[in-house]
Amino acid sequence: MRVSLSYVTPSPDSPWSTYLSQVDRVIPYLGPLARWAETLKRPKRALIVDVPIEMDDGSVRHFEGYRVQHNLSRGPGKGGVRYHPDVTLEEVMALAAWMTIKNAAVNLPYGGAKGGIRVDPKLLSQKELEKLTRRYTSEIGIIIGPQQDIPAPDVNTNAQVMAWMMDTYSMNIGATATGVVTGKPIHLGGSLGRVKATGRGVFVTGREAARRIGLNLDGARIAVQGFGNVGSAAAELFVGAGAKLVAVQDHTGTIYNPEGMDMAALMRTAREEGGVSHFVGAERIDNEAFWDVDCDILIPAALEGQITAARANRIKARLVLEGANGPTLPGADDVLTDRGVLVVPDVICNAGGVTVSYFEWVQDFSSFFWSEDEINLRLDKIMVDALKKIWDTSERHKISLRTATFAVACERILMARQERGLYP
Ligand code: GLU
Repeated sequence: MRVSLSYVTPSPDSPWSTYLSQVDRVIPYLGPLARWAETLKRPKRALIVDVPIEMDDGSVRHFEGYRVQHNLSRGPGKGGVRYHPDVTLEEVMALAAWMTIKNAAVNLPYGGAKGGIRVDPKLLSQKELEKLTRRYTSEIGIIIGPQQDIPAPDVNTNAQVMAWMMDTYSMNIGATATGVVTGKPIHLGGSLGRVKATGRGVFVTGREAARRIGLNLDGARIAVQGFGNVGSAAAELFVGAGAKLVAVQDHTGTIYNPEGMDMAALMRTAREEGGVSHFVGAERIDNEAFWDVDCDILIPAALEGQITAARANRIKARLVLEGANGPTLPGADDVLTDRGVLVVPDVICNAGGVTVSYFEWVQDFSSFFWSEDEINLRLDKIMVDALKKIWDTSERHKISLRTATFAVACERILMARQERGLYP
């Protein structure tokens, strides 16, 4: 990141600048609470840590890690940890801020936080990955904790990484603290349903939005960008509801079959080959052609900034479901609105993951665990209720679902801010 005036000044087209312009759009709808809006434009706390590890070949390498707590007005920080070569402080600031909005949008008693390490985990051995995770956890240990800030999985992190984080934190404080992270393995205080929860939330919000615009899921054509935890689970549920998966893009390439793909066979290929590009049940197409594919529902479930204004002009779908965080640039948002394409924004669409993280945290505190059916039912209800409130807000003010989600969330956050008051 280039530090110019201050670290809260965005670089153009960065996730942080996208987030700031989303906040600017909601300010006219906040009434007197707008007085506190500046709170949303700066992170409360940002920690940069050096993470040195000894590599398998005996050399020592240093990685840069971050943990940003964007807002703590409504409760402890909450949000994932990302391992990716493009991670920067500015990106983590945006991801933390989107967690603040997302957690408030589904009314979870949390603020928003996010962490990350600039690293390509595919180039590390399992032992190196463990050392990296443990040292990073120890370094951010001064600001995380079950009542302070609770990390979880995000891009390239998983239940095993969470188990190492939980163990490291527990060793450092001298007691087992299962509630310090969520997304853990089931027998270490993890929750049933957590792995597929984000994809399930994408499905539930998509199902509700489709019903409201009269789009029948039976036979609907789906295109998915990203076939990780989120994209694959969402695709599976849509196919289960009668939809056809016609296009998939992941880091290995793009595949297309207008008749729909066999989900079980595709999952097998993705698992065995580490990607979808060699799937025999579809033809391979150019990556850029993904945006021209004939489809009804488009699910970006990879990284930020994928839907540019130029791509937004080519999208054929009626419905865009943001499984990823920050996939649509503000200019593209306007193009999609003008073209009548409905966007269910990340800050509600992918909130299923953190909602089941919340269930996991509650179960850890009470040491009493729920059945998977109970979890999925509660998740469904929270997502349906949240979407209804956002939908009504969007109709009342004639604003996009994104601005409506920000309006609902920011009112809750800034009300808490006002009620708590400024200290001292
Ligand atoms: N990383 C996920 C997200 O972006 C989940 C965060 C959590 O469970 O705390 O929403």
